[in-house]
Amino acid sequence: MYQTILNNASFYRQLLKFDQDLAEQARQKGCACGGRLHSARYRRKPRGVPEELEEDYSRRWSFCCAEEGCRKRTTPGSFRFLSRRVYVGVVVVLLTALRHGASAGRVAQLRAMVGVNRRTLERWRRWWQDEFPCSRFWRWASGRFALPVEGRGLPQSLLESFSQVGEEERTVQLLRFMLPLTTPLSVQES
Ligand SMILES: [Zn+2]
Repeated sequence: MYQTILNNASFYRQLLKFDQDLAEQARQKGCACGGRLHSARYRRKPRGVPEELEEDYSRRWSFCCAEEGCRKRTTPGSFRFLSRRVYVGVVVVLLTALRHGASAGRVAQLRAMVGVNRRTLERWRRWWQDEFPCSRFWRWASGRFALPVEGRGLPQSLLESFSQVGEEERTVQLLRFMLPLTTPLSVQES
């Protein structure tokens, strides 16, 4: 069940490992100017993370070019952090998906599980169903699916459109799909 993923520390640990791999790839690639990259991680205090992983989730990998006169920042995509949202990406995805077609009581129970208030969940729903389908990213990316993905059912419809067998695998696939949306650090939202 998707719900059990939200409490599954090993799933969160796996996402950490994926981010570590992306960071290592970025570091090896270096800056666009050819310069070497130095670590310049961002401090984060994300919500929705199992307690034992809070420390591991307190930094986001990022780099600065070591060349004088460049100093450009490089921030790899992340399986954990969805741009500047306070809640981790997996919570933003799964909680919105799980509320789809669920009773009010059930939604309240899910919100309580990860400590998300009603207004925040409603904002995520609007983002998924109103803003996301109009985004340039989605207009580009949605053409890659064999069957059209129902906009009103996002993100549930998107999760189900991945061909992987298990729910954990599909969730990872969705987070991978969303990597291009995780790097602009200009959106400050919960
Ligand atoms: Zn550079």
